[in-house]
Amino acid sequence: MKAVVYQGPYEVSVDEVDDPGIEAATDVVVRITSTCICGSDLHMYEGRTAAEPGIVFGHENQGIVEEVGDAVVRVKKGDRVNLPFNIGCGFCFNCERGLTGFCLTANPGFAGSAYGYVSMGPYKGGQAEYLRVPFADFNCLELPEGEEHEKDFAMLSDIFPTGYHATELAEVKPGETVAVFGAGPVGIMAAYSAMIRGAAAVYVVDRVAERLEAAEKIGCVPVDFSQGDAAEQIVEMRHGDGVMKSIDAVGYQAVGSEGDEEQPNAVLEGCIKVTNPTGKIGCPGLYVPSDPGARDPHAAEGAISISFGKFFEKGLAIGTGQANVKKYNRYLRDLIVADRAIPSTIVSHEVPLAEAPDAYEKFDKRIDGYTKVILKPAA
Ligand code: ZN
Ligand code: ZN
Repeated sequence: MKAVVYQGPYEVSVDEVDDPGIEAATDVVVRITSTCICGSDLHMYEGRTAAEPGIVFGHENQGIVEEVGDAVVRVKKGDRVNLPFNIGCGFCFNCERGLTGFCLTANPGFAGSAYGYVSMGPYKGGQAEYLRVPFADFNCLELPEGEEHEKDFAMLSDIFPTGYHATELAEVKPGETVAVFGAGPVGIMAAYSAMIRGAAAVYVVDRVAERLEAAEKIGCVPVDFSQGDAAEQIVEMRHGDGVMKSIDAVGYQAVGSEGDEEQPNAVLEGCIKVTNPTGKIGCPGLYVPSDPGARDPHAAEGAISISFGKFFEKGLAIGTGQANVKKYNRYLRDLIVADRAIPSTIVSHEVPLAEAPDAYEKFDKRIDGYTKVILKPAA
């Protein structure tokens, strides 16, 4: 089959690789209909991780069940399914409590597992024609038959649940005020989720005009940090008040209001500054234990400095970590089915799998409006 294979920094190719098959009786094999490129794929693409050439990318996968292992009881051949980016076993201490992003079984020695991602286990990615899905009864989210909502459902693997998870980490409640840093796909989905949860006002911080427009379109207040300190702008708009909840949807590749130089603590500092005393910060933005690409020696070791004194003085709390997709995806699917959520508004491009190298390059450079790309193996 054809698959997107990492060749080295800034290079992927679409190569012929072995077809996946049933390896354990609890597996299924899915024929991929939609698979997205994610901002976190770019961390590998840019050579900022330990990813070795040869890895097949793709953790945001959806398709039709093609082959079923002997021990699979619920999922049937022909089922249309979406796959959470994180792989859970369903029976470990963490999965049992719904914390499937921290499964203790799927990737021995590490809490958490995903498709096609360095250090997240031996599982191949789904930017390919077919994908092997382990613990299939647990991991497959069933979708209505047909092709309706294909683009919306494709957002259920990662960014919609991850955006929703941000609001869960920050414990956003009806009537609250929220600041979201970063208006990439996850930031927009976090802001969208905050609106779904009934926030009174949502401020979205970025400096890219189209991203700020996207935030405005879903009913949020855009804040352009190239025009000055974002927290100060929000406080001014609110006549001296901050917000109760803030969300870091950027992570360690943050930049400050001056220039393009990376400043890994810029967003967390903004969150601490803008959040009112006793408020909470939700942080699904990615921070890594080591970053070979960082110029700062502390950041290279995954250490960043934050104003912990201020954080303590304000009695703030913070929730971190990747989304437990399984905990939310059924409900978010049903919001889509009921036309109460349309996450596909952030999809900028749908291209054939064969055009993946070009799509990666454009997405990485953020040119031609590339924000969220779906690859179509059958196109
Ligand atoms: Zn992703
Ligand atoms: Zn587990």
